[in-house]
Amino acid sequence: MTQETIEIAGVEVAVVSQEECEAAEMVVCVRKGAFSPFADNVEAPCAWCGETVIFRPYAPIKPPKVCMQCVADRFLGETQ
Ligand SMILES: [Zn+2]
Repeated sequence: MTQETIEIAGVEVAVVSQEECEAAEMVVCVRKGAFSPFADNVEAPCAWCGETVIFRPYAPIKPPKVCMQCVADRFLGETQ
């Protein structure tokens, strides 16, 4: 079976089931205070820095929630 993918902002992203999402390495989230059109977001501490992040109630449960700032610092730092 061919893996279905979509392109988001020039990045190829695999489309997987909710069950497969539970095996993800992390869920990248925005920090609390960032714009969101939803009133029912869930809050948790970023697994790396402890800042409060927000995410949708149907996000995978098991993977650590990590803020975009931490991901940018770690991964953009590695490529520069
Ligand atoms: Zn963080």
